[in-house]
Amino acid sequence: MECFTHPGSSSVGICKTCGKAVCRTCAIDLGFAVACTQACATEAAAIHEMNQRGKKIYGIGVARPKIPSGVIMWLLFGALFSGFGAFAWFKARDLGWFLLLFGAASFFVAWLGYRRAKDVGLQC
Ligand SMILES: [Zn+2]
Ligand SMILES: [Zn+2]
Repeated sequence: MECFTHPGSSSVGICKTCGKAVCRTCAIDLGFAVACTQACATEAAAIHEMNQRGKKIYGIGVARPKIPSGVIMWLLFGALFSGFGAFAWFKARDLGWFLLLFGAASFFVAWLGYRRAKDVGLQC
């Protein structure tokens, strides 16, 4: 094929945006594709970016986290309240008990969530 802009020059690729043939002189290498003009390069980059984001949103080709985010949240709560509880235990016994109890409850909810997610095979 011949370059769309330079007659006589053989093409090395096809513009990702408009589909015109480009030669070595006018091709803009985007890494993932080639474009004929700067405008086409911008457009192709935008579409590429959308595809990349789309892949992330739908979880295509990326390793999913083993632990659901909800479980991680409760684990953090549990660690936080347990930590505070242990600290408060030295200051005021009553408050420490309450916080430690809340921390333990958070760990329990995290465990329940993990069990449920494992059964359903849900990843969210
Ligand atoms: Zn183009
Ligand atoms: Zn050309």
